[in-house]
Amino acid sequence: MSDTMRRNILLNPGPATTTDSVKYAQVVPDICPREKEFASIMTPLRSDLVRVVHGDTDEYTTVLFCGSGTICMDVVLNSLLDNDKRALVINNGSYSQRACDVLDAYGMPYIELRQPVDALPDLDVIEEALRNNPDVGYVYMTFHETGSGLLNPAREVGALAHSYNTLFITDTTSAYAMIPINVYEDNIDFCMASAQKGIQGMTGLSYVIGRRDIIEASRSYPVRSYYCNLYMQYKYFEQTGEMHFTPPVQTIYAARQALDEYFAEGEQAKWERHQRVMAAIRSGIDRLGFKEALDRRVQSGLVAAVRYPNDPSWDFEKIHDYCYEHGFTIYPGKMQGQGTFRLCALGAIDEGDIVNFWKVFECALERAGVETPVIY
Ligand SMILES: *Cc1c(COP(=O)(O)O)cnc(C)c1O
Repeated sequence: MSDTMRRNILLNPGPATTTDSVKYAQVVPDICPREKEFASIMTPLRSDLVRVVHGDTDEYTTVLFCGSGTICMDVVLNSLLDNDKRALVINNGSYSQRACDVLDAYGMPYIELRQPVDALPDLDVIEEALRNNPDVGYVYMTFHETGSGLLNPAREVGALAHSYNTLFITDTTSAYAMIPINVYEDNIDFCMASAQKGIQGMTGLSYVIGRRDIIEASRSYPVRSYYCNLYMQYKYFEQTGEMHFTPPVQTIYAARQALDEYFAEGEQAKWERHQRVMAAIRSGIDRLGFKEALDRRVQSGLVAAVRYPNDPSWDFEKIHDYCYEHGFTIYPGKMQGQGTFRLCALGAIDEGDIVNFWKVFECALERAGVETPVIY
């Protein structure tokens, strides 16, 4: 094994750049995951994942799943709705649209509140929907819309949900272990994430973090999926300490290492590092005259959705390929009707990586014949 692995800087919205120590943590002797030795790393892993969002482990628990982040959306959406209830989804981006698609796939009833993709949702509209629909079983909102970079007002929407006696579920996949989150202060009953994003681990392990009493209560709800059922997976963990079906063994070793590195770096220091990275991203955007799709005041600070310039020489594929060959991955946007590309501040990267990125990016623009500062 080479001890100088090439370091790629991923500016896509996950999987993120990882440390070599996390990569190598996967290289372990073969082990059957049903051995006690393996089960003994699962229990602390689950409670540490609750600690990241400051939950009390008597009240909150982590349920692990083998899959990408979408599996957790599927699990919470399908498992936490009783028969006579409807879901309420705030749809203001591609990930909340995905939640609607999941509910459609199950044929589950829901109220869709469409809101603009580039501005904060209207709390009055959400409150009115709650007032008019006492049969809402949960409110679902994406914490950070990764397609646009919009940071939603989770705390406020969670408070509204609670004042109408319903649950608040938020998809924190692209914020967890990056933006500090506190399940009590942020009024979160359920959130979720994936090891490939905030904790800077590997793909294939995802987790739902939420209230035990509600999971227990969901035992009597309709079982809409066999593999993706929250209560069944929870119960198996509580009884055996293990995942019901084969876990992603090596990914779990990497997640353990990644979490140790997370706690060593510290919540605040890590968030400051992400902010440093975004400041460096923005300084290049401004210097080259690029414009973003969203006002910075409503952005998370983790994703910049940059508008394509109006230059006939602009060719995203060409720019991407040049950057990729030089170790930097940029990613197309996910905003309907608008040409954007994304630069994200996730992963084990720092300011200096972005300084190097802009040098390469400028070369790419020059080779493509794109005028700078760019024109709109
Ligand atoms: C990445 C992400 C997911 C999961 O996407 P996968 O492609 O399944 O990994 C879900 N929600 C949000 C907000 C995300 O950023």
